[in-house]
Amino acid sequence: MTQLTILRYPDPRLHTVAKPVAAIDARVRQLVDAMFQTMYDAEGIGLAATQVDVHERLLVIDVSETRDQPLVLINPEIVWASAETRIGDEGCLSVPGIYDGVERSLSVKVEALDLDGQRQVHAAEGMLAVCIQHEMDHLMGKVFVEYLSPLKRNRIKTKLVKQKKDEERDAVR
Ligand code: ZN
Repeated sequence: MTQLTILRYPDPRLHTVAKPVAAIDARVRQLVDAMFQTMYDAEGIGLAATQVDVHERLLVIDVSETRDQPLVLINPEIVWASAETRIGDEGCLSVPGIYDGVERSLSVKVEALDLDGQRQVHAAEGMLAVCIQHEMDHLMGKVFVEYLSPLKRNRIKTKLVKQKKDEERDAVR
């Protein structure tokens, strides 16, 4: 199976707004397989197509401890979000090593197509609700660090740019 490259903040491609998936065909099924593979290998709980430089409204998620409850959301829309919110620490495969608090709705309802093109409504709470909101942001070109203060965000940017340079230098050696 294919391993996809995960874009890293501050890559400008992470700020692309995704377009709807036009047809659920073999290409989309292959992409979903590759995204799950990439997400599981990176030990993530969610991955948006945006993060692998495919700008279509597609998410893969698995918040289970056993890593065996894959959830595919195609053209997802949040149709309801609780007014009650909570601030919890979030991380992101596109922002490696950084965790910080983001305020999110406690529960959400999301409507999306599954791989068979069937419309499903998912009621989510807890970690799944947070994950869905985080991944939906990616489809809008938003990375969670944009919720943080400009000072924090700049520190993260500097750190990740330096980290990438160090990696590239090490790779050349
Ligand atoms: Zn993310």
